[in-house]
Amino acid sequence: MNALIEKAKQIHQLSKEEIISLLNDNSINNELFNAANEIRHKFVGDEIHLRALIEFSNICQRNCFYCGVRAENKNIDRYRLTPDEIIKLADNALKSGYKTIVLQSGEDNYFTAEILADIIKEIKKNDTAITLSIGERTYDEYKILKDSGADRFLLRIETTDKELYKKLHPNMDFENRVRCLKDLKSLGYETGTGCLVGLPGQTVESLADDILFFKELDADMIGLGPLIPHEDTPLKDAKPDGFWLSLKVMAITRLLLPDINIPATTAMETIQPEGRILALESGANVVMPNVTDEFHRSRYEIYPGKKSVDYTKLEEKFKQIGRTVSKNKGFRSQSRPLSLNPSPIGRGTKMARHLRKNLTPQERKLWSILRNKNFYGYKFKRQCPIWKYIVDFVCIEQRLIIEVDGSGHNLNQNKSYDKQRTEYFETRGFTVLRFRNNEIENNIEEVADKILLSLREREGRGGK
Ligand code: SF4
Repeated sequence: MNALIEKAKQIHQLSKEEIISLLNDNSINNELFNAANEIRHKFVGDEIHLRALIEFSNICQRNCFYCGVRAENKNIDRYRLTPDEIIKLADNALKSGYKTIVLQSGEDNYFTAEILADIIKEIKKNDTAITLSIGERTYDEYKILKDSGADRFLLRIETTDKELYKKLHPNMDFENRVRCLKDLKSLGYETGTGCLVGLPGQTVESLADDILFFKELDADMIGLGPLIPHEDTPLKDAKPDGFWLSLKVMAITRLLLPDINIPATTAMETIQPEGRILALESGANVVMPNVTDEFHRSRYEIYPGKKSVDYTKLEEKFKQIGRTVSKNKGFRSQSRPLSLNPSPIGRGTKMARHLRKNLTPQERKLWSILRNKNFYGYKFKRQCPIWKYIVDFVCIEQRLIIEVDGSGHNLNQNKSYDKQRTEYFETRGFTVLRFRNNEIENNIEEVADKILLSLREREGRGGK
């Protein structure tokens, strides 16, 4: 097997140069797609999550060069659904069995956060997840929407090449878009982003940067699509030849972010026969059927020729490739339980073994009270690989992680790394306790009390 693909399968890390090398080498495409399919199977299983897409307004204040909905396009019939119409479409979709409603629009300021919040609250009277795709807003607006019950948010970065971004997005600011994504993450949304592949002037170098950006953001969903030129946009003469490259970007993204949700996008199906199935067999695990009524759907023309989905035929096609439709909401944190997931690093890796053999004096002291179920019968592991990290100690049964911080953790850079790492585990249902070396050296009894309290809290027994 190609050494880079093998590396990506094992540790889910690649350098920019390594990603570029994979993107440039078309002789490894099948191997890459198969590897992504294998990792998808291992980490998120064979279920496909269906998200019902409602395009509720094609009015947009922006002028993205590739988009048929852009404000300056006068050849489009504009529409805006009423709140009642949106709620009715959502109700119908939920009755048909969908578990997630995606509300998508142009950047239409008529729909204030307050109006949208009322719609969300009404839809959330049902047992459903809600994803928003409504563009850039302020932190406060995102917060109102989150508080009203929105669960996820999609905001594609489109390209991380700042010069290209500027050219394609008049009067828009790359930094503000990144700010939006960080706000969404900090507010607890499952946050999706992604890029367009095949833009004029785009390079494989910038696509590698896009993938590393997804990884750095720790995005929960990634939507990728090939550019399909629209005749009423400045990119009308661009070549629609980005399908295979977009599939490669998607496959590498799956290898580096193994447990996230990745849709087989409609753009892939539109530009390539069986594009959706090819995507599902190369790392994707989500499909977003459009449940907007036909009259309005045909007017939401971001790109031409958008393929619609016949749900019944689709389910049959899923069966043919060994896949089933999921019955749950498909949150990233609902991916298989930890014990069923192979660690991306693996218990026997050199790094984990090395760390286990080379405990610091403080780690040894703490291990002496935690080992062999000595600690009130709770089973702990030391230097245990979990997903992309190796944690100092973990009680998997109670999902409690204990980290021992040496003096290096006082540095700002390390503090921010620790914070990111803690958030990573907390969003996956773990509690993380951190102790400093001097606490363990000077007051191990108090450390033990805190660990026990936390274990009991997790068990719901309420302390000692
Ligand atoms: S891509 Fe989105 S923000 Fe840009 S013009 Fe189209 S609908 Fe508006």
